[in-house]
Amino acid sequence: MKYANSVLDLIGNTPLVKLNHVTEGIRATVLVKLEYLNPGGSIKDRIAAKMVSEAEAGGLLQPGGTIVEPTSGNTGVGLALVAQQKGYKSIFVVPDKVGEEKRAVLEAYGAEVVVTPTAVAPDSPQSYYGVSDRLVREIPGAYKPDQFSNPAAPASHFESTGPEIWRDTDGKVTHVVIGAGTGGTITGTGRFLKEISKDRPESEGGRVKVIGADPEGSVYSGGTGRPYFVEGVGEDMWPGNYDKSVPDEVLAVNDAESFAMTRRLAREEGLLVGGSSGMAVVAALRAARELPEDAVVVVILPDSGRGYLAKIFNDQWMRSYGFLPGSEEDTVGAVLE
Ligand code: PMP
Repeated sequence: MKYANSVLDLIGNTPLVKLNHVTEGIRATVLVKLEYLNPGGSIKDRIAAKMVSEAEAGGLLQPGGTIVEPTSGNTGVGLALVAQQKGYKSIFVVPDKVGEEKRAVLEAYGAEVVVTPTAVAPDSPQSYYGVSDRLVREIPGAYKPDQFSNPAAPASHFESTGPEIWRDTDGKVTHVVIGAGTGGTITGTGRFLKEISKDRPESEGGRVKVIGADPEGSVYSGGTGRPYFVEGVGEDMWPGNYDKSVPDEVLAVNDAESFAMTRRLAREEGLLVGGSSGMAVVAALRAARELPEDAVVVVILPDSGRGYLAKIFNDQWMRSYGFLPGSEEDTVGAVLE
């Protein structure tokens, strides 16, 4: 019989698939790593599992304990899943701008969701950081993983994501393209791949190049933190888990390009993925354009497109922000009027 003993054993070992349709004019092989196939639907399952096991090992989390994290997104789902399977309670603090659907997912896994007002200063006790810190202080046995600074986050990628890419490409990967949010993925995966390939001869591809993909406006690609719509990536400050020495270069991609590619990946490659995946593929194709036939480019696709049906995959939403070609003349709207 072939089965996993628990859903937690299904985290990681995600497959690589070659892009065949959006790669016109490119000689290099471009492979994408499908992180939406993790049981919680994103790459964040990996860090959730590792942050919890490290906290257990360090005595920070004990039977009957509660995991508290300010997150509405993929990390929350990963932590809710791991907490539930290991018998911990989980509480996620989310700002009220976070949609109903995202809260419902966390609650479906049995987590508690505490909603905080968006319209308060970040240092206010009512803010989402303020409330999560208070909960950690007040609840006995509470533990806050803090994905932005927890070294277990990059470590999980150093131990799993990086080695999987090396193994599945038979050590032939030459470039890896990764979007950065907290920076955990690029730091851990990139560090592993650079270390393992550091003595590989140039004739076999040399040292792996790590290319960061970043939304235009984010600090990683030299922006000032001005807003953008791609979710989960980019920052307006430098988190502890982002190691600047890992990426060889960081390419800035704008929202319109990211979303157009996200839609092409669904329509042409059969890959329903999120906006940060589209962004990473745009950066990868830009880099791959200059590369020879024997280059092997691996792009990490962090999550599924299911969470973005009302935005990126909705023509009206796309048009209202000018992300669809011909948005200025809203032809559908004009016909309806
Ligand atoms: N894409 C999405 C959709 C995410 O939720 C995240 C996590 N914030 C990332 C990419 C970036 O991953 P990391 O935090 O490891 O940099």
